[in-house]
Amino acid sequence: MSAPAGAPPTSAGADAAEAAVEAITGAANQDVTFSLELTQDQKDIRDWVHGFAADVVRPAAHEWDEKEQTPWPIIQEAAKIGLYGFEGLAQFFADPTGLTLPIVNEELFWGDAGIGMSIMGTALAVAAIFGQGSNEQIGEWIPRCFGTAEDVKVAAFCASEPNAGSDVSGVRTRAKFDEQTGEWVINGQKAWATNGGIADVHVVIATLDPELGSRGHAAFVVPMSEAKGISQGTKVSKHGLRASHTADVFLDDCRVPAAYVLGGKEKLDERIARVREGKKNKSQAAMQTFESSRPTVGAQALGIARAAYEYALEYSKEREQFGRKIIENQAIAFTLARMKMEIDAARLLVWRASWMGRNQHRFENAEGSMSKLKSGEVAVWVTERAIQILGGNGYTREYPVERWHRDAKIYDIFEGTAEIQQLVIARAISGMQIR
Ligand SMILES: Cc1cc2nc3c(=O)[nH]c(=O)nc-3n(C[C@H](O)[C@H](O)[C@H](O)COP(=O)(O)OP(=O)(O)OC[C@H]3O[C@@H](n4cnc5c(N)ncnc54)[C@H](O)[C@@H]3O)c2cc1C
Repeated sequence: MSAPAGAPPTSAGADAAEAAVEAITGAANQDVTFSLELTQDQKDIRDWVHGFAADVVRPAAHEWDEKEQTPWPIIQEAAKIGLYGFEGLAQFFADPTGLTLPIVNEELFWGDAGIGMSIMGTALAVAAIFGQGSNEQIGEWIPRCFGTAEDVKVAAFCASEPNAGSDVSGVRTRAKFDEQTGEWVINGQKAWATNGGIADVHVVIATLDPELGSRGHAAFVVPMSEAKGISQGTKVSKHGLRASHTADVFLDDCRVPAAYVLGGKEKLDERIARVREGKKNKSQAAMQTFESSRPTVGAQALGIARAAYEYALEYSKEREQFGRKIIENQAIAFTLARMKMEIDAARLLVWRASWMGRNQHRFENAEGSMSKLKSGEVAVWVTERAIQILGGNGYTREYPVERWHRDAKIYDIFEGTAEIQQLVIARAISGMQIR
């Protein structure tokens, strides 16, 4: 499949990574409005990703869902055309309107969410490195998250623990600095990490002092190929998103060099000292990463919802009962009308939050959380309605809507559950400590 004029180059390496960073930071200084009339570049990239989703991803979706394995050959295909890789991700992100990244995610996840997550799961670790790393760390680690088209790699972001999910401040994985060897020593257990154990680069959130809550957190790069003491725990068998690998990760006296803490040890020491003095600290390693990625995650949910809506619409125009097409019944037609309306409404929230995030507008009313909450709820509702419209067929694995329903449910749970998003919004609009 040939790439459009605006598609990213596929060359890898530190120079390309540097150019990509410049493209992002250069555009960040202009305040750009977006139009609901997409630019030709945005349309070209949308159609290009849609082509890949329709021709490569969707035909393989059932097989990889059943296998419950990472679809390496498809990640490699995506790498070959420039859809998987830092240059690609950076170019999508560099669009100053902020819309290209959600558009790409919606189209890819329209193809399949499990495969989509295998392709985009790396982005969470990349976002952490990009958001918190120094320029040298960005240049070194981000290309390693992706590998090359010939030798693709994935990356993992490990914040959650068995007893720290919604409450990230409960992280107990501990990092201590060994002055004698000049290394960090990390101990703990991470839970539900996408690509956990199969990734090379793991970004691990650990605490320097549990008493400081999330203000004592730091993010460490732990490369599987170099570090001893990191291992994969149980691979999780899941309800949906089954082509995406999820596993526990164990850190057992895991040692990494001093320079592997994102942002650098000096800055971290200064920050922790400020926190201990009782001064305010803006940087909370895990929360920063989640906040910036919420609209993109919302766009993924929208892709699933749109797939189910389109399928149910076509089905309802074909299927006949009582001598007429089932869509000729208002009950079905009105449901489809609401499905379409809800998807479009959610997309507007996603695009608004993406534009705000890209142009450094603060989420005063938790607009990022709004976009993710709404999209997740819409995806669950639309896919459930799609099963209803397909009737018995909808409930079988012969048809894709039951898979879309299983896949959609995670969007109420990960990267902040629906309840936690409401908490964030309620606190933002009220300025009160709602519990
Ligand atoms: C497929 C999958 C992939 C994942 N990938 C990653 C990953 O790559 N990296 C990573 O770090 N984590 C990942 N996670 C973990 C995910 O982010 C957590 O599961 C999620 O944050 C919820 O935490 P929990 O499961 O511990 O639920 P809990 O926090 O135990 O919540 C249980 C229930 O209580 C509710 N609840 C909790 N506190 C409150 C409150 N204050 N008010 C109201 N209700 C509340 C929740 O909303 C939820 O309904 C993944 C999880 C899954 C299933």
